[in-house]
Amino acid sequence: MLDKFNREINYLRVSITDRCNLRCSYCRPKEGISLQGHEDILRYEEIIRIVSIAVKMGLVKVRVTGGEPLVRRGFVDFLADLKKISGLRDISLTTNGILLEQFAQNIYDAGVSRINISLDSLNKDKYFRITRGGNLDDVLRGIARAEEVGFFPIKINTVAIKGFNDDEAADFVRLAAEKPFQVRFIELMPVGHTNLDYGEDYMPTWQLIEQISRHYELEPVKNKRNKSDGPAKIFKIKGGLGEIGFINPVSDHFCSTCNRMRLTSDGKLRVCLLNEAEIDLKKALRENCSDAELEKLIRDAVLLKPKQHDLICTDNSVKKCYRNMSEIGG
Ligand code: SAM
Repeated sequence: MLDKFNREINYLRVSITDRCNLRCSYCRPKEGISLQGHEDILRYEEIIRIVSIAVKMGLVKVRVTGGEPLVRRGFVDFLADLKKISGLRDISLTTNGILLEQFAQNIYDAGVSRINISLDSLNKDKYFRITRGGNLDDVLRGIARAEEVGFFPIKINTVAIKGFNDDEAADFVRLAAEKPFQVRFIELMPVGHTNLDYGEDYMPTWQLIEQISRHYELEPVKNKRNKSDGPAKIFKIKGGLGEIGFINPVSDHFCSTCNRMRLTSDGKLRVCLLNEAEIDLKKALRENCSDAELEKLIRDAVLLKPKQHDLICTDNSVKKCYRNMSEIGG
């Protein structure tokens, strides 16, 4: 599927629920968000239908996310059904890891062996604070279990937050040096309704690269080697087992190579994380649309993709996107 700017769109992120067992302060407000009702959420078979049609149009890669995908009942069977779609070459999952110890083997057996785990602090108290109640030990046990079961690659995603975890950069790099993981620092994006002051908490990841380079020798890895690295700038750590990466959607956006769209938990095809344009597939499905009609809506969405996002995040100027990350699927 080619968009107006000649980009090949072949990757879909699917949020299967807006519910989450954590309340990360940069993702949701303290008071919570109003959750979508059961009927508002796409049914698994509806998602499978959308993906099957999109695969015929050129989709090759799906990432299942949320909310927290592991809290939705039946998600393992859903993964197994995704796996049966012929032509879908790459299925991966993003989780906060809280329930991973329990589900790692089932996920792997369903045919999904690539996993991203979000982890913003290696300090128990700080983890509890940023997630508003999460237990770091649950996640660490989940990661250990994922390694044992054989997931590869295991990517750890860390949102860089000024004054919160920038002092832990070296600890995260040590984790990547000691284990065959890819630890990626991601810039905080002004998305959704939260209590955060993005102007104050945002930091460009080049500041972390400078800080880390004082302690570790980093060797850039060519992205061509591994297309699954997507927009991350990847480095090997001299003498280490794993890698570190930096994803800079704000300071150095990668829109010119964007290949993705998102299916929100309530069935909207969202053409860019940071742009409000969406096409309502759920409405069409519930009105019994034909496959040809669905195909046309998917094509319309591809053609709606903007050239680039217009997010700004500096000390004195923030332009936000208003949908919550958990609904969109981060
Ligand atoms: N619950 C799963 C998890 O924690 O990975 C999947 C959903 S979560 C919304 C997906 C990713 O989005 C997480 O890595 C999270 O840190 C990231 N995220 C959420 N809000 C963000 C923001 N404002 N800026 C950058 N990343 C954000």
